[in-house]
Amino acid sequence: MKVLKFGGTSVGSAASIRNVRNIVSGQEGTKLLVLSAMSGVTNKLVEISEKLRIGDLATCSKIILDLKTKHFDLVDELIAEDSVNNTVKSRLNFQFDELEQICRSNWNNQIEAKILTTGESLLTLIFSEYLKFEGIGNSLLDAKKFMQVNNLENPDTLHIGELLNDYLKSSEENDILITQGFVRIDAKGAVNTLKRGGSDYTATILGAAIRASEIQIWTDISGLHNNDPRFVENTHPVSQLSFEEAAELAYFGAKILHPQTISPVIGKNIPVYLKNTFTPDATGTCISAIAERKGLKAISAKDEITAIKIKSNRMLMAHGFLRKIFEIFDKYETAIDMITTSEIAISLTIDDCSNLELILKELESYGEISVDSNHSIICIVGEGVMEDRGTSRLFEILKDVPVRMISYGGSNNNISLLVDTRNKIEVLQKLNKKLFDDRLVSSV
Ligand code: ADP
Ligand code: ASP
Ligand code: MG
Repeated sequence: MKVLKFGGTSVGSAASIRNVRNIVSGQEGTKLLVLSAMSGVTNKLVEISEKLRIGDLATCSKIILDLKTKHFDLVDELIAEDSVNNTVKSRLNFQFDELEQICRSNWNNQIEAKILTTGESLLTLIFSEYLKFEGIGNSLLDAKKFMQVNNLENPDTLHIGELLNDYLKSSEENDILITQGFVRIDAKGAVNTLKRGGSDYTATILGAAIRASEIQIWTDISGLHNNDPRFVENTHPVSQLSFEEAAELAYFGAKILHPQTISPVIGKNIPVYLKNTFTPDATGTCISAIAERKGLKAISAKDEITAIKIKSNRMLMAHGFLRKIFEIFDKYETAIDMITTSEIAISLTIDDCSNLELILKELESYGEISVDSNHSIICIVGEGVMEDRGTSRLFEILKDVPVRMISYGGSNNNISLLVDTRNKIEVLQKLNKKLFDDRLVSSV
């Protein structure tokens, strides 16, 4: 079985949904489709949740009405026959009534999760009915029956596979299975999400769970580019990446993939293809066990990073000191991304500041603490990147950009720089020019 995931823009209009139908029906074998909400819908649902939290029910109702119009218009464009069209709309109405109902409760995390995951339910229903209307048989699966992810960083794919298999035994057999991305249930069975952009992660969790032959992630760009195309001109798709390279790029901000996307398939040898729904023949990116070529591949950037420096002239080099520092972060379940040490100080970065105050309070007894927020980690990735002759040009750039931290050697795949977010775009552009563009010119 293959897993095919289609993101928001791929299901954002009737025209793109027709592309999705063609892509799906052009492929042999059994396919498990993971679909996101229509583009823009989850943002609207976030807005509903925020308005509910502050008690602005009138705005909640207004947004719900807009969403209803958007989805009903889509049904009108896709399903021309009145009786089918009406049946689908009445099923959607049921979901919108439920959403209205939810918005009469007091806001809490559980209510928020229910609101946020509505977009995927609406869209998968429409897509499944549209395929049936076109004579393409399929089964719509409720992800809440099997996507049990208790630990966001470490899903139990074996258990999810068992739940899915049991569920499939009780549902109609079909070559095309359709389910919702983004949604999960937690250990207690309560609905939750895989965080924004989480449908990519759904696809790889399910791919690992069913031992898929491959996973295809269909989006609005032809593969992972060598730099962030939102900020840098002249980027190009990278045709092949190893799991480790792709995992670093996703984790360190390449928005095309949810940060955790690659982890479920590492060690399972299931290739992941990144493809463009709008130009399906373009090569895209293949992510697999080996790096076909060594050297620099791509650059990404992750924002909202906070750097913490602990300066202690007494204890830093004493054994046990680092352990005590790390235990504080562990206690507050806060992951550390970058670390550098000197004779008298240690600097480290975190991206989750929800327990920052508590962490700082405990760190104070170990030395003088300083905190820099609003930083970005820029990650330069490729197997053996430091051995790449071109990478030496990196140091030419560093002379005119203030870099707060630099890290190399943790893996052979990556060099990370910590810069003030205000300088991020400039650094990305300079790096692109020095490490990619100038190299092209010099090799002509
Ligand atoms: P989807 O809705 O299909 O999940 P996303 O918007 O989440 O799509 O991801 C695709 C977008 O990611 C692209 O349109 C592009 O702007 C952005 N992006 C950021 N960095 C990269 C990169 N290195 N390579 C490709 N796309 C990137
Ligand atoms: N619809 C969700 C979001 O916008 C999940 C996804 O698109 O992957 O975050
Ligand atoms: Mg996405």
